[in-house]
Amino acid sequence: MAADRRFREVQRYADVHGFFAGFPNFHEADYGDGVVYGTILLRDTEAEWRDVPRSEYQIFHIEDVPGLFRAANDYAGRQGYPAAFPNCEQADHGQGVVYGTILMKPGSTEWRDVPRAELGNPQIDDVPAMMRAANDYSSREGFAAGFPTFHQADYGQGVVYGIVLLKPGVSTWRDVPADLLAKYSAPPRRWAILLCNLNDRPPAATSRDRYVQFFTESGAGTAFDYWNDMSYGTEGLRETGVFGFFQIPHSTAELLAITGSAQRQQAFNWGLEAARNANVRLNDFEHKIVLLNGGGNDHGAVGGGVTFVYADQTALEPTFMFHEMGHEFGLDHSFGEQAIPCAGGDARPGAYCDRSDIMSAMNVASFQDALNRRSGPSLSAISRKRLGWLHRSRIRSLAPTGPAEVFNLAALNRPDVEGYQMVEFVGTSRVNANAMSVYTVEFREQTGWDQGLNSSAVILHEIRSDGLVRLLTNNPLGTIGAGGEFVSPSPSIVIRVESIDATSHTAQLRVWRLPASGTRNVRIFTILFDPRGPEPQGEFVLIQNDRAGAVNLTGWSLSDAAQHVYTFPLFTLPAGGTVKVWTGTGTNDAENLYWGRRQAVWNNTGDIGILRDVAGTEISRFAYTA
Ligand SMILES: [Zn+2]
Repeated sequence: MAADRRFREVQRYADVHGFFAGFPNFHEADYGDGVVYGTILLRDTEAEWRDVPRSEYQIFHIEDVPGLFRAANDYAGRQGYPAAFPNCEQADHGQGVVYGTILMKPGSTEWRDVPRAELGNPQIDDVPAMMRAANDYSSREGFAAGFPTFHQADYGQGVVYGIVLLKPGVSTWRDVPADLLAKYSAPPRRWAILLCNLNDRPPAATSRDRYVQFFTESGAGTAFDYWNDMSYGTEGLRETGVFGFFQIPHSTAELLAITGSAQRQQAFNWGLEAARNANVRLNDFEHKIVLLNGGGNDHGAVGGGVTFVYADQTALEPTFMFHEMGHEFGLDHSFGEQAIPCAGGDARPGAYCDRSDIMSAMNVASFQDALNRRSGPSLSAISRKRLGWLHRSRIRSLAPTGPAEVFNLAALNRPDVEGYQMVEFVGTSRVNANAMSVYTVEFREQTGWDQGLNSSAVILHEIRSDGLVRLLTNNPLGTIGAGGEFVSPSPSIVIRVESIDATSHTAQLRVWRLPASGTRNVRIFTILFDPRGPEPQGEFVLIQNDRAGAVNLTGWSLSDAAQHVYTFPLFTLPAGGTVKVWTGTGTNDAENLYWGRRQAVWNNTGDIGILRDVAGTEISRFAYTA
């Protein structure tokens, strides 16, 4: 792969993930979950972006990365900056080609001439080898990162290479999955917007402008921004073409003579024909929208694309348009558990009943945007996964066994916040005890495209064997706030929302499995009776609270078959909480209690642990044999 492409991928990844810029260090590794690429990321406090005319660079091919580096650093010097690197983005905003240039701010870097031999003798035109060498040198010298200027010199003591070193704290190294980075340079599925008018409805001179803006530009709630956000910058409407207006040789009366959804299909077919006659290369576009300048009274998704009908003076309808475009991306409607649909147009039970998902429009939690148009909500996590937009590194799959665990779920619309953005697990269907479903968990903040939601909340969907995306709308509800929990059918997994933190844009989840009986009590989860290392210090009993509320364990006891008894001190175990009772000595905390014995308790050949409450009633029993 050409090196310049890797630089662009890193820049685009940085844009979406809360950084300002970055560059690849060309290290790669596989820690067991696929290849990751070493990526150096910067914030805007340390660097600034400038579009520099190609004439300043005097480099005429974006593939010439060494030339771009030399020119960027020469440019930085002329402008009073210590260093710069190219992000290998080129654009033409109407005044000639410009190259994206990341200028390092004064004080952030140090420049050195380093003997070529000390760098391992990389060839100066070998970009990956040079980047790795600069990075390795920076690590050895205690810097955060480094890049070569691709300048070389010989002052009489052998060849030296110019190396720019980023001071500690200036940059962040992140290992980014290679397949995620690749999405940022993969050719997107392209959309063609075909502007058409019936022969008695000529467009105004400015009609084209709002479509160019809505489909190809950022700002003011455009479709371009919506799909860019839903796809985390990987796809969306990049490389959309807007064509027309083209005049359709038919009149409004002719179109209106066709009724029902056949009308929108006819308008679509006429639009394609008009575009083809005007020599638009439709085969270059996977997705097509015919935008009719008024005249029809039915529009939406059709076979092969979408028809929209908006007269010059009619406002666009983002919620409706995003929904219909979602169909064209390949999405079905979303559902609830209701026996009847929540709106007309799709007779299947529960259709349009997921108010948090655009694929239930128009029965959704929308908002009025800055232009007073109905807009939002966003797209559910499972749909983003299905479209290849939510990367597996952001999805946590729960195993069917294991003790309780606590982790943060980043808001679905915040790829810049680290951590998982979706949890999924396989469990028994809520409608068929013999069928399995996939349950998904996501955290939606009441902001941005989701500002129409009632509140920030954790939202659960069930994907049954029919494959449909179904919001859980029967009790227990699939929309839960802080302190709420969801329990899947037996064998149950409990999803409990511990807290929602607006500052960090995360929801803290506690997740655990109930015993096969479904009983919700305190139980001995396991006994580690034969640990590695010394017995009394390594032995513990893991106790889990499966109840929906906290339990005061003060005065409870834990005993073995030989009547060794441990009495709990002042201690409360939260809902879903676990505590280890260690046989040996240590300092008690919220997750660890210490019996303080010098001899082991739990026999390696077999034993019985019994947990009793403060009244002496047996609560849980755990028997094992070697
Ligand atoms: Zn629809």
